[in-house]
Amino acid sequence: MDKLSKQQRHANMTAIRSKDTKPEMIVRRGLWKRGFRYRLNHKRLPGHPDLVLRKYRTCIFVNGCFWHGHGVTESPVQGSEFMVQSSECCKIPKTNRKFWVAKIRRNKERDKEEQKKLATMGWHCITVWECELTPKKREETLESIAFTLNHIWLQDHQAKVVPFPKLEEEDMQMPMAAEEINN
Ligand SMILES: [Zn+2]
Repeated sequence: MDKLSKQQRHANMTAIRSKDTKPEMIVRRGLWKRGFRYRLNHKRLPGHPDLVLRKYRTCIFVNGCFWHGHGVTESPVQGSEFMVQSSECCKIPKTNRKFWVAKIRRNKERDKEEQKKLATMGWHCITVWECELTPKKREETLESIAFTLNHIWLQDHQAKVVPFPKLEEEDMQMPMAAEEINN
């Protein structure tokens, strides 16, 4: 028997639906379709990146614009006070403003620190913003992530110095080939 009440079931369905359409899923599906494979929410890596692509030494974070303060600019005022300007996609609420400013600043700082840690461990980080995943922008964003990943892979593999094949002593003593040239 289904023990969930009608209301509970409704809540569940809404949760499932929003989970499926959330920005992270768009990135996952888009990259999968393009042939990229990844792990999810790597617990042992700083910041628990949403997607981890080992082959590309890359962590991808899919960030909500509000919580991660996309585009907000901050400038120090006197003492420890900060001026934080809202941006197009991160509007800091007017009520409880101090609280929100502190919270968003903390989140941004944490993001920065975690990405720094990842970089010292040899990982590249890509941040994808929620606002870059609207139906209009999504394909272009996914294409550009794919491009970046391929670029990273190529750089990793071209940077390796390929040693010249060693010649055996015997080969060294052999005369160079000289083609006969008929004028
Ligand atoms: Zn944004």
